[in-house]
Amino acid sequence: MTRTAIVTGSTSGIGLAIARRLAANGFNIVLNSYTDAAEDRALAESLAAEFGVKTLYVSADMSSGQAARQLVATAAEKFGAVHVLVNNAGIQHVAPIESFPVEQWDRIIAINLTSAFHTTAVALPLMREAGFGRIVNIASAHGLRASPNKSAYVAAKHGIVGLSKTTALETGGQGITCNAVCPGFVLTPLVEKQIEDLMAEKSLDRETVVAEHVLRKQPSREFATVEQIAGTVAFLCSDDAAQITGTTISVDGGWTAQ
Ligand code: NAD
Repeated sequence: MTRTAIVTGSTSGIGLAIARRLAANGFNIVLNSYTDAAEDRALAESLAAEFGVKTLYVSADMSSGQAARQLVATAAEKFGAVHVLVNNAGIQHVAPIESFPVEQWDRIIAINLTSAFHTTAVALPLMREAGFGRIVNIASAHGLRASPNKSAYVAAKHGIVGLSKTTALETGGQGITCNAVCPGFVLTPLVEKQIEDLMAEKSLDRETVVAEHVLRKQPSREFATVEQIAGTVAFLCSDDAAQITGTTISVDGGWTAQ
């Protein structure tokens, strides 16, 4: 039976690369974002055509617990089972704590952390039924280290590392694993916005911002790529990774070695 994978927030960046890699590995794919556009459905169709698997685009806003739960239920209705859940949807906002907008705090905690609680709650019984499950939570180097002005993001990412460990303990010996992948900086729209904001704030050119304010944290002085994150997720979904559970894998050019 072809296995089914759900990737939240998978119309761009890391999520799209994960969806593509899992499709290449033969999984049926449920793509997700909060939009409901013809191009979202076209993306799903293009993946199906390219990799010869079944795909479905489901519009569901991960800031809503009910929508997050419905996403997993819809995937199970459509494909009959859920074997892989990648909680990837995430947003960022940068500001000091005292002026951090409360609505941004609530949105980041909801999308980057609470949505994974809701999707996991619906996915676990389905994975137990299938006798196989892989939950991969896309955390961050900020799940293990802090940076100033990223309070909500750092709190949410530390939270999802904790959720991953608890999920692993509740699924031991059931053919199900749960781990967190912790990327360093990856050049996606999420980081592109931070680069542009820093260029404006500091009146610096792009090269200087990238070298001195972004990759300064990463001893490799190189961005990780979306394909490298996708490859790590694909490994965690494989049988070779059956005994890897409740842990973190950093793909961060050495950031957290410091
Ligand atoms: P991105 O902005 O390119 O993609 C985010 C995806 O999430 C998009 O498909 C977007 O449509 C979707 N999304 C946003 N809000 C949503 C919502 N409310 N409901 C459903 N989907 C929603 O960002 P990215 O850099 O690919 O980030 C993906 C994940 O990787 C995030 O959890 C992010 O925190 C994490 N991460 C990114 C980096 C990096 O350097 N880019 C580093 C560490 C961790």
